[in-house]
Amino acid sequence: MYDVAIVGYGPVGATLAGLLGKLDLSVVVFEKSKDIYPKPRAVGFDHDAMRLFQHLGVSELLKHSIEPFREEIYVGVDDRVLQHFKHMEKPFPLTWQPHFTCNQPSVEKIIRNANEGMSNIHLSLGSEFIQFENSADHVLLHIKDSNNKLQTCKAQYLIGCDGASSPIRRQVGIGMENLDYDEHWIVVDMKVKEEFLHQLPNVNVQYCKPERPSTMICCPGNHRRWEFMTVPGDNLEEIVAEHRIWELLRPWIQPGQAEIWRAAAYRFHALVAYHWYDKRIFLAGDSAHQTPPFLGQGMCQGLRDAANLAWKLKHVISNRAHENILKTYTQERRPNVLATTKLAKECGLIISERDLRKAKERDEKMFAENNGKTKFILRQNLIPPFESGLINLNTPLAGSVFPQPLVNTFNQSNILMDDITKPCFKLVLLEEKINENELPKIIHLSISSNIEVILLKLDGTRATERDPPLLEVTETLHILRNCLQAAGCIGAIVRPDHYVYSGIVSILEIAASVYELSNRLLE
Ligand SMILES: Cc1cc2nc3c(=O)[nH]c(=O)nc-3n(C[C@H](O)[C@H](O)[C@H](O)COP(=O)(O)OP(=O)(O)OC[C@H]3O[C@@H](n4cnc5c(N)ncnc54)[C@H](O)[C@@H]3O)c2cc1C
Repeated sequence: MYDVAIVGYGPVGATLAGLLGKLDLSVVVFEKSKDIYPKPRAVGFDHDAMRLFQHLGVSELLKHSIEPFREEIYVGVDDRVLQHFKHMEKPFPLTWQPHFTCNQPSVEKIIRNANEGMSNIHLSLGSEFIQFENSADHVLLHIKDSNNKLQTCKAQYLIGCDGASSPIRRQVGIGMENLDYDEHWIVVDMKVKEEFLHQLPNVNVQYCKPERPSTMICCPGNHRRWEFMTVPGDNLEEIVAEHRIWELLRPWIQPGQAEIWRAAAYRFHALVAYHWYDKRIFLAGDSAHQTPPFLGQGMCQGLRDAANLAWKLKHVISNRAHENILKTYTQERRPNVLATTKLAKECGLIISERDLRKAKERDEKMFAENNGKTKFILRQNLIPPFESGLINLNTPLAGSVFPQPLVNTFNQSNILMDDITKPCFKLVLLEEKINENELPKIIHLSISSNIEVILLKLDGTRATERDPPLLEVTETLHILRNCLQAAGCIGAIVRPDHYVYSGIVSILEIAASVYELSNRLLE
């Protein structure tokens, strides 16, 4: 019997397989297609996703095929800029650029290659999931293999990473909350000849034009993405025919100046499953939620699902936590995805207005709301912290993403903090707030609770060598220190997926917070 069976080997299934594989769980993956889906989909992912890719060991490989995501403007009826998505200033909280542009199939290929090096991940490509049977201690999967033979397979848990039409979601009978966005769009990826790139916008643009709402995104190298909303009169059968694509592209680029790489028609939805967990079955990625792509968050949200599930499954399967913690998956992820999907829909509604009078009113309203000026939005502020779940909500920082600075240890310099810490709970403390004679007690407590202790020393001092579970680090850009001090904390307990479990405001709270966490895991 496998620990975990995953159905669907898109970006979410592949990432989850890698995360579980790195946690030494036995994983089987069933994917009905033999090849990676080649059509145009994600062209962007954020720093949370990059942090996960770093953990999977593929960030260096990815660097060759991605670029920083450019700023994005929304252009209104009279070509005025209605709103402007900016990026946060340096130093970046996770050290990585806040957002990248990419080519989804290349990203998937890199993750898959990394997974192939793990002997505890068993891949079954060309195998179609048919149905499951739930038992008290396992799930039995019925699979049609690549030779059309019916097979069965047992696993403790089953994760449906099987995309928007999710057969697993259907079998469980989980409905989707409809946030009421439903539009047909045509998506075109172009390879533009170098000498014509300069005639295109050098930022990403949402053309909020009633005659044909459309999008242009600057992707890596000479790759440019256009998305066009369909309008009455469009023939959906022939809309991705070559001559139609050139007609749509005429305002930007002409035949001979670029080559059509790939094109597809999609129906953009805003749907979120009511439940993401039922007995031994979970939904992750597009099977649990679909969002219009205007914030570039569909895949990113699915990757967050994977990160949230992986450590919880490991804790439960290795008896370090009661299976009740699995309930917090929906509690944490669903409100987070709901909020982001609503925002993406709002962006979609701004872009998609087809009535000229209403579009002009929209422009005036947006300027009026911002004192006649363009509204600036920080893209990274759009993902909310957790509102509930396995966090100590009464403490500062709880439910937020903990930063990842470059740190120095006694023998390493400028190393990403996650690369030298363990994938377990961490107690991160400002060293100057801790009495050296308090340390043995803290260490004893941490060993018994399987927590790594990280002491952040003052800038300008040197980290000294310490015995595990204690690690001493310094940082030069004050990212961690500023985060803790701004929240009035002397430290924080951080979960394996880098979300803050609880902020700690005084040394007296450390023991109580660790006990509280241990109880929560086992109750
Ligand atoms: C035009 C467009 C632009 C987008 N832009 C962005 C962006 O910039 N940033 C971003 O983050 N997201 C973006 N997205 C969203 C992103 O592409 C998806 O969210 C992501 O692909 C979902 O990944 P997944 O692994 O959950 O599902 P999928 O990639 O759909 O994978 C599901 C897999 O399950 C398999 N499967 C289904 N049924 C079975 C079965 N019965 N047996 C076995 N296997 C099965 C399928 O073959 C498939 O491979 C965009 C999407 C579109 C359409």
